Amino acid sequence: MQTEQQLRIDLAAAFRWIYRMDMHESVANHLSAAVSEDGKRFLMNRKWMHFKHVRASNLQLLDSEDDSVKYGNEAPDLSAWSIHGNVHKSTPEARVILHVHSSYATALSTLKDPRILPLDNNTARFYERIAYDTDFGGIADTDEEGERIGATFKGQKALMMGNHGITVLGETVAEAFESLYYLEKACKTMILAYSTGKPLNVLSHELARDTAESWDDYAGAADAHFEQLKGILDIEEPDYKE
Ligand SMILES: [Zn+2]
Repeated sequence: MQTEQQLRIDLAAAFRWIYRMDMHESVANHLSAAVSEDGKRFLMNRKWMHFKHVRASNLQLLDSEDDSVKYGNEAPDLSAWSIHGNVHKSTPEARVILHVHSSYATALSTLKDPRILPLDNNTARFYERIAYDTDFGGIADTDEEGERIGATFKGQKALMMGNHGITVLGETVAEAFESLYYLEKACKTMILAYSTGKPLNVLSHELARDTAESWDDYAGAADAHFEQLKGILDIEEPDYKE
């Protein structure tokens, strides 16, 4: 298991790369990682801090059992508190939660049918491996809405949030980041394919399922990719580790 400091460094690296990939939003959206076994204590970005300014040392350590923090100077964003706090608590095995309103995923989430169809390797990666929440309840800032969102994962590690965005879970920051990376790519393929107006050549159920399973053989790629991304930050913006 990673130490809290290693987790802080990895999470800070994810913030920097999500900003670099233009998947951030103003000073909103949140990434978090559990530090306790039960998921009740977790690291998250501070309220209204730009992703580019996040570093290992300024991530906020929160305790979802102690909501006195909501009333102090260091109050977290209430919608993040409600979603991340409740999902960490209800799904302690999901150590890392990444939530964004990235362009292509959000565009797909606004369609009447927001499903990712198996069209290529990247879209098939999510075949039967993503949950859909089509009951958008406005900006989530209550425990009820956070609990409702937590229940919609239904054992999956990715959630398409209708009329909203996406959330992915992972055992490590690297695993969750890789999932987010491919999820946005899959949504981009869906939007571009739909935009041609031509009929889609959707893979058969069997082929889609086989392709999704084949991705399991590449699970190690998540760590390799993330290590190289951190290597780039080590050269270009090493303050993320501070
Ligand atoms: Zn959101």
